[in-house]
Parts: sequence; C-alpha cells; structure tokens
Amino acid sequence: MIIVMRQNATPDEINHLCEKVKEMGLTPQVSRGVERTVIGVIGEEDKIRIKPLEAFPGVESVMEILRPYKLASRDFQAEPTEFEMPHGVKVGGKKIVVMAGPCTVESRESLLNTAAVVKKEGASFLRGGAFKPRTSPYSFQGLGEEGLKYLREAADQYHLCVVTEVMDTRMVEMVAKYADMLQVGARNMQNYDLLKECGISKKPILLKRGMSATIKELLLSAEYILSKGNFKVMVCERGIRTFETATRNTLDINAVPVIKKETHLPVLVDPSHGTGKWEYVTAIARAGVAAGCDGIMVEVHLNPEDAVSDGEQSLIPRQFESMMGQLKAIAHAIGREV
Ligand code: PEP
Ligand code: MN
Repeated sequence: MIIVMRQNATPDEINHLCEKVKEMGLTPQVSRGVERTVIGVIGEEDKIRIKPLEAFPGVESVMEILRPYKLASRDFQAEPTEFEMPHGVKVGGKKIVVMAGPCTVESRESLLNTAAVVKKEGASFLRGGAFKPRTSPYSFQGLGEEGLKYLREAADQYHLCVVTEVMDTRMVEMVAKYADMLQVGARNMQNYDLLKECGISKKPILLKRGMSATIKELLLSAEYILSKGNFKVMVCERGIRTFETATRNTLDINAVPVIKKETHLPVLVDPSHGTGKWEYVTAIARAGVAAGCDGIMVEVHLNPEDAVSDGEQSLIPRQFESMMGQLKAIAHAIGREV
C-alpha cells in the first residue's frame, strides 16, 4: 500500500501516520520527493485496511498496489533514483556510467595496467571478480581477499570505484571493506539471505538478472534489498537463456525500457555476458545506451588469449576505446553523456 501525502503535509502529520503504521505492526518507508512525500507500507496490508487512512490529516490518497514490488515501483517513487559514489561519480544521473575490467582479478600487475586503460578511456568503475561463481568446481575460483586488495589498490591509484561480486552472506562484510559497490551475480539473484544481507550492509548494490528470471522476479529481488532500507540499488540486464545458441545468452534489450517504466532504480546493461563474444559486445553496448540504460559493464583484458575466464568475450584496450567513442556519440544524440 502507498499513502500519498498532500503537498503541504507537515512533518508532524507524516510522523503521526508513521507511528500509526508501526503500532499496527507494519513498517513505513518514507520517500520525500520534490513535490510531495509518499509513504510505502510494508507488511501484512490486511492489518491496516481497516483504518480510514484518508481521514488522517495530511493524507491525500491511498493506493493499493497491484504490482508485487512496492518500494521498487514507480508508484512509490516517481523520480529516478540517483546516488553518489566516491570520486564524484553519480549513478542514475545524466551521465551513463561505464564499469570495465577483467572477468577475474588475475594478478596485481595486470589489474593495475587494466585500470590505467579503462580510466584513460572514461570508465568510472573498475570491475573484476575475486570470488567467481564458476560452472565447474574445478575451474579457478578467484583470488579471494588478495584479489579484493588488488582491486582497491588499482582503483585508488586511478580514482575509480570498485564493483565486485559477493557470493555468500558470510562474505558481505569482508567484500564491503574493499568494494564501493557489491555485485550480486546472476546465479545468486534469488539467494534471498544474501539479498537481505546486502540490504543491511547499506553499500550500493549491483543486482544482476538471473539467467532464467523474469523482470518481475528481478524487481522482487531488488525489493528484498530495498525492504531492508538500502535504496542504492542498480539492476542489470546481462542476457537470459533462450533457445538461441549463436550467442552465450540473449540480451533482452526490451528489459531496459520495461525496467525504466516499472521502477525508479537505475539500469545497467552487460553486453559481455549478454553475448559471450567480443565481436558483438560493442553493438549491444550501443543498443543498451540507445535503449536508455544508465550504465554499461564490459569485460576488458590486456591479452584475452591468456585470460583465466571469459577471454572470448573480453575487449582489448583498442576495442574498448572505440566502443567508448561510439557510446559517447549515441549518448549525445539522446541527451545523455558517457
Ligand atoms: C560477472 O559479472 O563477473 C558475472 C559472473 O556475471 P553474471 O553473474 O551475470 O554471470
Ligand atoms: Mn565474466
């Protein structure tokens, strides 16, 4: 349920309503917009339906939400979510953020060199996995905390933000010590305990769409994080499984405008995992920007032949540079920036 307050509602009226909601065993989530304040009511709505809410001072209207996600919905917050990161980076603003780096953190030296390249071409995040969700248990599982240290060092040296995956509730605190944004990977999109922990952590979260998840399921997973009070969430389209075998996944470009309509949360597009082949990455990155995404995540490797993972979908520096130039032109055409 969403309670829309009148434009001139006073803080006392808002507090009074929040207290009533709490007395009934529900949780009020207050969103102060430019125009008016909206209160999302979380919990068993039946408990509150018996109250004549529209009779409370300051209340304009009460909306029952048909969408299963409440806090993530545009009904709850009409304006797009924008949040600040270190180094003056803004997520969800006019500028489309670019996150780039290797699939896996491989060594200190290669990461420092990759960070230099991606920074020079205009990326604002360094990506790289220190804990890798590999299909086979015999594949390299990541450098762990050592990898996180390399990420932090390289990002600090080049004034980049760190985004890296966390796979386990027990690791959230440790990864949050080094990262600026925690990535929940496709395979963990419905790991609800992990989502709750990410909500509690208050670090910005990058939530990737599960490979067989609907947009509704993605947004319900985002809702888990928001419902714990963490609103710094970006959702990511990274391709879904279809019958098509020409590419690793099918990047659902439709998801971008659908997600933008359904939620105020910013949307990232990952054309690397979305296609699985470097030669298609730039085209799909362009499509993501044209479709209205708020960020692009791409895998970049100095020497993909030697990559520990996902070399076949990694761009080399020259290709990354070319992609960035193309994205700038498209962003400019639609009133955005890269
Ligand atoms: C990744 O970004 O490193 C990754 C493993 O992606 P996904 O979870 O989308 O497969
Ligand atoms: Mn990868």
